[in-house]
Amino acid sequence: MGEFELIRRYFQHALRPDGVALGNGDDCALLAPAPGMRLAVSTDMLVEGRHFLSTVDSEALGHKALAVNLSDLAAMGAKPLAFTLALSLPRADEAWLAGFSKGLLALADAHGCALVGGDTTAGPLNICITVFGQVPQHQALRRDAARVGDDVYVSGTLGDARLALEVFRGKAHLDAADFATVRQRMERPTPRVALGLALRGVAHAAADVSDGLLGDLGHILAASGTGAELRAGDIISSVAVSPILTSAAAHFLPDFALNGGDDYELVFTAPPSARAQVSQAAHTAQTPVTRIGTITASPGLKCVGPDGAPVTLTTRSFDHFA
Ligand code: ADP
Ligand code: MG
Repeated sequence: MGEFELIRRYFQHALRPDGVALGNGDDCALLAPAPGMRLAVSTDMLVEGRHFLSTVDSEALGHKALAVNLSDLAAMGAKPLAFTLALSLPRADEAWLAGFSKGLLALADAHGCALVGGDTTAGPLNICITVFGQVPQHQALRRDAARVGDDVYVSGTLGDARLALEVFRGKAHLDAADFATVRQRMERPTPRVALGLALRGVAHAAADVSDGLLGDLGHILAASGTGAELRAGDIISSVAVSPILTSAAAHFLPDFALNGGDDYELVFTAPPSARAQVSQAAHTAQTPVTRIGTITASPGLKCVGPDGAPVTLTTRSFDHFA
């Protein structure tokens, strides 16, 4: 199977949403964002041995490669439109390609996001996706938009993907059913696109939690020139942490919840006057959210326990070069 046959067989995508004027097959794809919309663009690369294990199922990998990119659109309040795929493959393994393409295009179809181009070469396994989304000009959920007094929220639950990783590493232990659940969260994350869209015009700042809550919230604080006070009890309550993490890995809990990466939840801020709207957005998106703190004028991240006493936090955000 040659390069062009491979592309035709596995990466020809029939989906043509409004806004895609020309898909793959030409020198460029042509995108036509709706009037008044900004094009939101983001790239994420997955490298074998660094972002995933060589043993991972290719269908899950196809899903995750797109999911982490859609998560960035979600964090901007952008609606997915299209993506490109730059793929380096050691060999044209048809079983692998069929699974990868299936996982990738199923998630793409679910989000109305068309594969419109890419590049395919031989080499070490490396997957690089660029996504394009649309967001109304003044409604993008930017990292620099947090305001003093805003509430801080996080969606879903934190720490499960990290727990799965530590089971793979032999440092944590779970029974088979619990492991299957957290493994699913690590290998097939759910991008919070619906929540991002529902938070347009409601939330101020947002980021997705890819490197750990403290680190990713830290980016919002730095960009906005603010600090935050977090209520440890509200994060570590059963609300923002899954029952599996609470019961099976209590010892790891604060660190996995606060610093565990790969959750792809959204951390966002909104004014206290918007609490009802935030609840409505969570309801619309069928995605639970938990209020975990407040944006402060004094810089830095402080944490208080249930009694109001300070709790020491260590940020261990993932850094490829640290
Ligand atoms: P060029 O040499 O003009 O860059 P290529 O030969 O690399 O074009 O690719 C031919 C066409 O196939 C282009 O339209 C390109 O966007 C598309 N393409 C290549 N690889 C992929 C891929 N992995 N997924 C989707 N489309 C692809
Ligand atoms: Mg090319």
